[in-house]
Order: sequence, then C-alpha cells, then structure tokens
Amino acid sequence: MSTFFTIKKKCAVCGTENEIKIWGSTHAFGYCDLDFRPAEQMRSLLYLQAEECVNCGFVATNIANDKFANVYKKIVNSDEYKNCNRIKFENDVAEKFYKIYLLNTKLNDETASFLALRNAAWICDDAGDEKNAIKCRKEALKFLDVLISIKDNNLEKYILIKMDFLRRCRMFKEVIDCYKEFKFTNESHYKVYNYQKFLAQIRNDKISNYGEVINFFN
Ligand SMILES: [Zn+2]
Repeated sequence: MSTFFTIKKKCAVCGTENEIKIWGSTHAFGYCDLDFRPAEQMRSLLYLQAEECVNCGFVATNIANDKFANVYKKIVNSDEYKNCNRIKFENDVAEKFYKIYLLNTKLNDETASFLALRNAAWICDDAGDEKNAIKCRKEALKFLDVLISIKDNNLEKYILIKMDFLRRCRMFKEVIDCYKEFKFTNESHYKVYNYQKFLAQIRNDKISNYGEVINFFN
C-alpha cells in the first residue's frame, strides 16, 4: 500500500501557495523494465514527480525550489514553454515532464534533462502516444550520450538505457552494432545487453522487463 499526504508549497516563480500531493511510502513489486522503469506501485505514481503551480503554470519536480528563480521566471513566460515547443501531447502529465525538460536544458543540467524526457516518454507509453514517446526518447539519447561519456558509477546502466531507447525508436541496427568492445562488470547487465541485441535482431520494439531476461537465459 502506498500512503499519501498533502503539503503546502510556495511557487518559486509567483509565490502562490499550492497544495501538493506527495507519497509517504510506496513499493515496487516485480521486475523493472529494461530501461529500469520500476514496477507497480511506483510505476503509477510517476505523475507526482511533476508539480504544477495552479496560478502561473510553472512545472518542476519541486516547485518550491527557488535556486534559479530568475531563470525560471523568464522561461515560464516564454512562448516555447507555454505552448510546449508546439508538441501536442496526448497526456497532460507527459506535457508537464516535457516542460521540466525545457527548464533543465536551459540550465544545462544534462542529468535532469535526461530524466525529464525519460519520464515524459514513459507517460507517453502509458497513454499510447507512440509518436511523442519516440520523439522524447530520441531527444533523450543526446543527453544519454553526454552521461555515458562521463563514465561514472551509472555507466553500465546508462548504456543499457540507451540500447533500450534505440530499440524502442526502432533503431535496430544501432542496437546490434553498439558497444561491441564494452566489458560489463555486472553479470545481470551483460545478460540484458545480450537480450537487447536479440530483441533488436527480431525487430522487437515493445516494452520488455527483466523477468523476460531471466526466462531467456534459463
Ligand atoms: Zn506560480
């Protein structure tokens, strides 16, 4: 069971007090997807990570964070932000995450830009908005390449997410050809890598989870 409560947050852009629903505790039961999307119930609670001010329309993972308030004010009033880069999302939560991306890319925050696009793509998947799911993943790939080039502790994870995003965008040849020389240190990651190559060979662009990997190698 997930527990929720409501807290008051003051918008960093306009100062309006908003009632924001947050979760107190939640769990993920089951296998995560190959791009590390968690299972239920966490899966369905993603929308809570996009907070929106009822007054000015500012959207952020934390609307009370006023660290870059002056930058936020400019962006929130821009046409690009208001019309969401002229993208017609079929789901308003996907639109909110895309706006979080627009904000973070202006701040040159590659990690936050990637996460916001990834979240937008996940919500598009849920809404059956395939066109925009692909659009968000293709845009996210640019930031994934930056994150991969940093070679931090998440390197193997980022490579696997990149492979999954390429496959979901039907870029099968890129999946088959990528990271042939890379040595995975984590055995489960290496299995996912091989399974991704298999899925690409049979031109499968569907959501897949780690349970399928376990079955495949048994
Ligand atoms: Zn506001």
